[in-house]
Amino acid sequence: MAGAPGDVAELPPRLAIMLFRNRVLLPGAVVRIRCTSPTNVRLVEQELWQKEDRGLIGVLPVRDLQQSDPTSPPPPPQQQQPPPTQGDRGGTALPDFQQCLGKQNQELVQWHPRGVAARALHLSRGMEKPSGRVTYTVVLEGWCRFSLKDMNARGSYNTARIGQLDMTKAEMEQAEKDPEVQLLGRQFKVVASELISALEQKQRTVGRTKILLETTSAHRLADIFVANFENNFEDRLAMLDAVDLKQRLVKATEIITRHLQTIKVAEKISQKVEGNLSKSQKEFLLRQQMKAIKEELGDNDEDEDDVVALEKKMQNVGMPANVWKHTQRELRRLRKMQPQQPGYGSSRAYLELLAELPWQISSEERELDLVAAKERLDSEHYGLGKVKKRIIEYLAVRKLKPDARGPVLCFVGPPGVGKTSLASSIAGALGRLFIRISLGGVKDEADIRGHRRTYIGSMPGRLIEGIKRVGVNNPVMLLDEIDKTGTDVRGDPASALLEVLDPEQNRTFNDHYLNVPFDLSKVVFVATANRIQPISPPLLDRMEVIELPGYTSEEKLCIAMRHLIPRVFDQHGITVQHLKIPEAMVELIIQRYTREAGVRNLERHLAALARAAAVKVAEREHSIHVAREVQAETTTTTVVEGGEVADGEIDMEVEAMGVHGRDLANAIAGVEPWHVDEAMVETVLGPPKFDGKEAAERVSTPGVAVGLVWTAVGGEVQFVEATAMTGKGDLHLTGQLGDVIKESAQIALTWVRARAAELKLATGAGRGLMDSRDIHIHFPAGAVPKDGPSAGVTLVTALVSLLGKRCVRADTAMTGEMTLRGLVLPVGGVKDKILAAHRFGIKRVILPERNFKDLQEVPANILANVEILLARRMEDVLHEAFEGGCPWRIQARM
Ligand code: ADP
Repeated sequence: MAGAPGDVAELPPRLAIMLFRNRVLLPGAVVRIRCTSPTNVRLVEQELWQKEDRGLIGVLPVRDLQQSDPTSPPPPPQQQQPPPTQGDRGGTALPDFQQCLGKQNQELVQWHPRGVAARALHLSRGMEKPSGRVTYTVVLEGWCRFSLKDMNARGSYNTARIGQLDMTKAEMEQAEKDPEVQLLGRQFKVVASELISALEQKQRTVGRTKILLETTSAHRLADIFVANFENNFEDRLAMLDAVDLKQRLVKATEIITRHLQTIKVAEKISQKVEGNLSKSQKEFLLRQQMKAIKEELGDNDEDEDDVVALEKKMQNVGMPANVWKHTQRELRRLRKMQPQQPGYGSSRAYLELLAELPWQISSEERELDLVAAKERLDSEHYGLGKVKKRIIEYLAVRKLKPDARGPVLCFVGPPGVGKTSLASSIAGALGRLFIRISLGGVKDEADIRGHRRTYIGSMPGRLIEGIKRVGVNNPVMLLDEIDKTGTDVRGDPASALLEVLDPEQNRTFNDHYLNVPFDLSKVVFVATANRIQPISPPLLDRMEVIELPGYTSEEKLCIAMRHLIPRVFDQHGITVQHLKIPEAMVELIIQRYTREAGVRNLERHLAALARAAAVKVAEREHSIHVAREVQAETTTTTVVEGGEVADGEIDMEVEAMGVHGRDLANAIAGVEPWHVDEAMVETVLGPPKFDGKEAAERVSTPGVAVGLVWTAVGGEVQFVEATAMTGKGDLHLTGQLGDVIKESAQIALTWVRARAAELKLATGAGRGLMDSRDIHIHFPAGAVPKDGPSAGVTLVTALVSLLGKRCVRADTAMTGEMTLRGLVLPVGGVKDKILAAHRFGIKRVILPERNFKDLQEVPANILANVEILLARRMEDVLHEAFEGGCPWRIQARM
């Protein structure tokens, strides 16, 4: 038999009938069935397997009926007449099923009066284990509709007389010309293709059906689509009954449209569900899974308890009402989160900060005893009379009016002069805790005020962090190196500090991270700075500057003997019984090993000596220990030889000889303390760094002058070197110089060139000073950046020395800005510069005349040792700078 399903050639008058229980095979549909019942096995064997052409069988739907009374007699199987049909094709109003009682299982079944002839596309034979019965698997393809005329039993299966229902090919072609059929066909195809595209979005397996859409006629498609997409038995049955083409197309359109709508609605719902619920549902599912995993692993989920503990802690820290409200909100958020969720950690850290901040906790402020405070300051710090006086005044005001809004003290001075330790003494005197906040290098406002919590890794600013660390809301807070805060694109830390230092504003200090105001009004702020200039004026306005100049060598000696040595000894666990550092040696260290304004390096060197002594002491301890052990052993041997003492006693004896830690002093009592001498200083600290002859050596050639500069670490001695070489009259400058200092060099050279004749510097008749020569000026140390106008006079002196081929006096240093006309202008940092010169062993200092007033700040004992020479004009400087004065002075004066 040839042709496609539905292309009906001719059906045989009888067909073997296979019953499909509650299922309908439609033309064009393909089903795979496994036949195991004896009836079907027989049917397949005889009708399909044994036939060469694998013939046709009829497939008839049957419907299960309710079990009837088993006692009622079955209708006779033979010659059951189907109800009369009204013409075969297009027959309507057929009473549906015929009832009969199944043979084997006594079931009441109804068969349908219409079925579909089917052909086997594939057959395979198998064997059921363990019974050994033969089974068949058949792939059947629906071919065309038939009507049942009567049914007979042939052996174990039924055969039926049938009538063909579907049209032949020719008839079909004719029928398809009917415009109504065509219209219905098109309508159906529209719906069908809509269904295909809806399905296409979900699955890719509709390809074959899509091809059919283009190649197959509408009525055949109708069967195929219903067979493929509709599972409902009644609908399929109705489709089987739709013998009339128009009826079939209408029915199929209706079924497929319904199916399409179902798909669309389902899609809509799933989209909605996905959109609204997927996130929380997914989370819920994941959480459930996580819980299950944790339970499996035996991990106790303590986070919930933790949050409860956190909340309890928060209830006890006395947060202000508004903060508490905010905290509650945050807690609620945290509770809804899972620990593994992103954001949980940061939310928790935030809440912990809120819980740890001392909202109400203040350290108890004891009654301020000014006498005791003064004693304390005196006992901890040598000298600094004025500074201490100001601190006592400050404390007195606080005593009389505890909430007085006095200015913030700001100690200004070079490193190591005791700024930090003074601040800590203030805290001690007030009985408050002390916290140091380092502001050095802070360029980002967020460092002060914190990052907003939207940033990853955000954290509170240094102030809130400091308050958290110290744990009370009324500490003495040292804002260290307030002059080192800079401004850049990331905001201005100084403006944030302004808010902190302003008593009106710091009641509600707003840290970006904290996001709720914190009251800083109880904090006592003290600031330190190395220099005043870099501090922004509004900030400076809120502070009272107390300057701490550097110390003189004598002061350093006293500080070392009274404070540093005892402290260093204490830190290293040694006493004067171990080590003695004579004053002369301390002086030696001050002169040869340190050249600083403060005492930090001095303290470091003393600590190095103490460490070396500690090693010696430990070695001594060891040798004493060993000596005693040896002695003990000898004793024991004697005793054992005597045969009277047990082993245990020997051990005890040795144990008792051990010298440990604090027993050290006793153990070595009687041993001479170790005296520090020059040799030991050199062994421990290395060869001296400064020998007092440096200036003399360096100034021994023409072209070198000694200047005085002012840096963040106090005053410094700065050599200026100039040299000349063959060239084109250029000036070369090196030593990391800023613009101002470069300009000073230009001015100096211009001034010298302009006065070359008066200064008798010209190299010969008719030749200019710079003719065919270059001048190079260098500022050692080359790696340190330098700037400022105060090197003007030094530059000129170096140039005059170079070009006049005369050495500058080695005992003389100078500072001063020079105008193009040779006037010497005043400069800053005079006191520090003079101190630096003194430290360097310089005996004479040339200063601008208008700096005379600054001399009163310089300690008298320094002034007694350093000769101050005041200069109004450059010629005055030159006169003092050279041995025997400057012979050109009179002529050069304008
Ligand atoms: P700064 O803060 O100015 O850099 P520090 O306060 O840290 O300096 O001082 C450095 C060391 O020098 C500290 O151990 C300090 O006690 C000590 N010191 C500084 N000046 C004095 C002084 N006048 N009396 C006693 N010790 C001092």
